[in-house]
Order: sequence, then structure tokens, then C-alpha cells
Amino acid sequence: MPFCEQLVQAGRELLGSGLTVETWGNISCRDPVTGNVYLTPSAMAYDRCTAADMVVFAADGTQIDGRRRPSVEAAMHLSVYRARGDVQAILHTHRVYSTVFGCLGEKIPPIIDEAAQALGGPVPVTAYALPGSEQLARNCVDALGALGMACLLRSHGAVCCGVDMAGTFKTARVLEMTAQIYYMARTIGTPEVLPPDKVDWMRDFALNRYRQ
Ligand SMILES: [Zn+2]
Repeated sequence: MPFCEQLVQAGRELLGSGLTVETWGNISCRDPVTGNVYLTPSAMAYDRCTAADMVVFAADGTQIDGRRRPSVEAAMHLSVYRARGDVQAILHTHRVYSTVFGCLGEKIPPIIDEAAQALGGPVPVTAYALPGSEQLARNCVDALGALGMACLLRSHGAVCCGVDMAGTFKTARVLEMTAQIYYMARTIGTPEVLPPDKVDWMRDFALNRYRQ
């Protein structure tokens, strides 16, 4: 599917999944062949966007196509792609339970097998920076590091990555599910964090051996 169409469909899925509200959040994907990055426009309802509304950047960050103003988080998306050759799609979500931990400045530890498989280790929280700022982009890249698939922006949603759009949605769904379970478990007890060696085994299994 062409990349702009992929974003249109992802926008509808984002709304339907409840992973954001209104026009918040944003979605991008990268063409692994050309390195071009495709991004959703700023302040437009996801269910009204067409392929022609998407904005295209060259690998160096220059806007090369699109009649709309890009999402204010363009710098964040472009910075993550520059830092991470393995990431081909990024979803910035505004979801309740993960944002609870982002507001507290508390990382979400791997407490369930799904988190270990899809997210690897603990999901970190960035320092606070204004939306759309270069500082937020830098904080996000730092928090993701070399291997992280998700991070919480302080007091402001989450950034989820994947090797393709389907993988990115999986990251986002598992993050929110883990956050909800972690929140609920802490209301009645102390959830046990999975041991790092078990987390590493499951992440390796998910990346290299989990297939039909
Ligand atoms: Zn946001």
C-alpha cells in the first residue's frame, strides 16, 4: 500500500482504537528504500484526512511534498528515524493509563509477558519539554536509546515504534494494556517485575523465533 494511504488507514485505526482523542497524537512511516518520511498533518481530524493531506520529508528532514502544515511533532518523528535505522513507523498516542505514569514521571516496568515480548525492558519517561520543541525531540531520542520501542513523554502521551505500521500499533496497544494492568495491580497490591534475564529471553523470542 502506498505510504500516504497507509497513514490514512492508520489514522482511522488510531481513532477507532481509542489510543488518542480529537486531533491529538500523530503518525508517521518511512519508506525503507528512499528514506522518505510520511507524516500526518497538523490539527486535522483523522477521519477526514486523505492521502493528499499527508506531508512528505526527505531523509535529511526537508519537506518535499504536501500542501498541509505537518504535525507539530515533525522534529520528534524525524529525529527518531535519524537515530534508529530499525524503526519504520511511529505512533504518538495520548492514552489514559500510560499518561498516568507519564504524569508521575514513573517508568512502566515489564510486569507481564506481553510487555517483555513487545516492549523489552521498562518503558522510560522523558524530562518535560514543550510540545513540538526540539528539546522534546532530543528527550524522546534519548529515552528510546538504541533498543527501546516506546517511551512516555513527561505529562504528555507516549511515543511508540515498530518495524512496520502493524508492529507500531502492537507496541501502542501492549503499552496501554501494561499500564492499565500495572495501575490496577498497584491499587490492590505490589506487582512483581519480571526478572531481566526472563525479559531478555522473551524479547529475543519475539524478535527472532516467534513465527508460524
Ligand atoms: Zn502529543
